[in-house]
Amino acid sequence: MYSSDELKDWDKRYIWHPFTQMMDYMDDDPLVIERGEGCHLIDVDGRRYIDGVSSLWVLVHGHGRKELTDAIERQSKELCHSTLLGLSNIPAVVLAKRLIEIVPAGLSKVFYSDNGSTSTEIAVKMSYQYWQQKGEKKRRRFISFTNGYHGDTLGAVSIGGIDLFHKVYRPLLFKGYKAPSPYCYRCPLKLESAGCGMACVDEFERIVKRYKDEVCAVVIEPLMQGAAGMIAQPEGFLGAVWKIAKDSGLHFIADEVATGFGRTGTMFACQQEGIKPDFLCLAKGITGGYLPLAATITTDEIFGGFLGRFDEFKTFFHGHTYTGNPVACAVAVENLALFEKERTIERMADKITLLHDELQRFKMLPRVGDVRQKGFMVGIELVKSKKTKRPYPPGEKIGQKVTGEARKRGVIIRPLGDVVVLMPPPAIDAGTLKELVDVVYDCVKKITGEP
Ligand SMILES: *Cc1c(COP(=O)(O)O)cnc(C)c1O
Repeated sequence: MYSSDELKDWDKRYIWHPFTQMMDYMDDDPLVIERGEGCHLIDVDGRRYIDGVSSLWVLVHGHGRKELTDAIERQSKELCHSTLLGLSNIPAVVLAKRLIEIVPAGLSKVFYSDNGSTSTEIAVKMSYQYWQQKGEKKRRRFISFTNGYHGDTLGAVSIGGIDLFHKVYRPLLFKGYKAPSPYCYRCPLKLESAGCGMACVDEFERIVKRYKDEVCAVVIEPLMQGAAGMIAQPEGFLGAVWKIAKDSGLHFIADEVATGFGRTGTMFACQQEGIKPDFLCLAKGITGGYLPLAATITTDEIFGGFLGRFDEFKTFFHGHTYTGNPVACAVAVENLALFEKERTIERMADKITLLHDELQRFKMLPRVGDVRQKGFMVGIELVKSKKTKRPYPPGEKIGQKVTGEARKRGVIIRPLGDVVVLMPPPAIDAGTLKELVDVVYDCVKKITGEP
């Protein structure tokens, strides 16, 4: 068809890549993927790579799974798209029922969209509109966390807390309150995690107490702040934050776009601390990584706040053209079926232990400051000085150098700043998992080693 050189040339000429400094990109040899096979990707030159970050955190059962491609084929022959605005379709109905069966208790209504950013933006709009329609007009703010990430549209950026990505847009954003991130390695309260008594929870509570009358909801990534560099929350943090929010009558928005569908070792991260959010935002793994789809799942209580006579205009005036796309929903249904059939979650347990054990030797390396893990979500933070925790100067592009080296050795990973991220697909076999960690270890050692 097209030669590998042609494709690379056109890529550089015509594509503007997301989250990519294109000046660097233009100097590199682009990596163009042609095929996926299980937990591997194959490029246009026939080179194989382990898909070490699940194709940006979406892949679950592997590439090219026949059950999933069959589901897409079957559904696409029936109907590729109609609309969910006033109509319904079979896969959207079946998936909604299946989701309600597996999400935390109390969640009962599924609102579809196409990506993670829209799923959180929808939760924000629903929560706000709910309070407005209840007559609580003063509630216009959200409490979220520093280092939080909820997507790239402006509403999602408003509740985000990563300066590097979000600061420039600040004049365009709505205001809110930010509670300190539980980033124990670099505690924003300057405490040591041993014996701090989770002072960040107290700080969160102070913000809630002070502003609760003007707040709609608390927004959080449960257990792990992903995009900020895999910042793992100490045990009990999520449950404590949830209890404070609920006791103060605030909505609780759990953004499980990254953590959902097995990533932390349970189907949803919320389950690990027994919390019941008012909104659950899902995307990434929902289709097993096959097609774009998202869901914002909420309660009868919220749903009820939007019911009324037509001319009361309590309708949720929000919807996307491809909302509830039948092909995406069909593959999501099959994705959930595979979780059951293959006992994906149960079978992760041993691999999580293996991963944990394999990660220990990173801590011995002179430039590894911190190793964080929840299930299959891993962040390895590189530092210039282990003693002072001084970061590398950004110009050294240390994270990028490690992932560049990994590429040469047949592994695709993507850094978040100086944090090397691993997020293997839940269905990866133990051998490939070990190979992935071995390669990354050698790369970190080589790139950060003394000359
Ligand atoms: C990726 C991500 C999003 C945004 O999802 P997109 O599909 O990229 O819009 C939102 N929240 C979290 C926690 C994420 O990891």
